[in-house]
Amino acid sequence: MQSRQAKKPTNAPQQGMLQERSSLAVQPKKSKTSQQPDLKTSLMQAEQYGHHLHQMHSGNQSSLSEASQVPQPISTHTKTSINVSPIQRACRAPGCNDSNCHDESNHGFDAVRPMRDRTVYSSTVNPTDLGQGTGTTQGTRNYVNSISYPQQVSMSYSNGSQGGHTEFENAPLRSGQRADAGHIRGQQNGGYGNQNAAVFPQNPQQNRGNHLNGQPTRAIWREHEDNIRNLTQGGQPTRMAVTLREQPRKRYS
Ligand SMILES: [Zn+2]
Repeated sequence: MQSRQAKKPTNAPQQGMLQERSSLAVQPKKSKTSQQPDLKTSLMQAEQYGHHLHQMHSGNQSSLSEASQVPQPISTHTKTSINVSPIQRACRAPGCNDSNCHDESNHGFDAVRPMRDRTVYSSTVNPTDLGQGTGTTQGTRNYVNSISYPQQVSMSYSNGSQGGHTEFENAPLRSGQRADAGHIRGQQNGGYGNQNAAVFPQNPQQNRGNHLNGQPTRAIWREHEDNIRNLTQGGQPTRMAVTLREQPRKRYS
């Protein structure tokens, strides 16, 4: 890992050349609008530093209530690029706007990986998490109706010996119908419906396991949330991953 001590960029010409060359390799372009902290730059940089989250496990979800009560500072002084600490990283969960949040476990996830066309949320449901989730709020219900509507949902889960998988179209909303704030991690399995970062815009019938266009929907979603609870009640943690895709996945069959 490179150490980056240069806190004060100077304009000495010989350094300019150096900076120009090294910028090709590691330095994201500085945004001209310096008031914009450019979250993407920070995130990209965190990734360049190798801060991948696969090893993160929660186990400390009690920190949630403290973290969510921290008032959100106005982000005029957020540092870009060179002052990003290699140790602290930003929370990557879409919907989390708390600049003091550095850990997706605050939202009930081991890791959140936003990609170009999809976001992957992984969680570990421990027996002690069952029944510890929270319901949705007016705030999260408004939030999901203000962001783009993912068109496809998939979920895989396993406790090591048993598991399941589901993948389905997040059915389009009827004209004038509002999306539900769907728990990415089910409420019964410890998911937080009162956090923007833990919900997604979901078709209400599918979310609630009701009929849609005369067809039952329980088997595509709710039943799997129940399966995860049932597996976890066996005493072992269940690992789960939910993928939300902006567009339906292409199939080559
Ligand atoms: Zn966060």
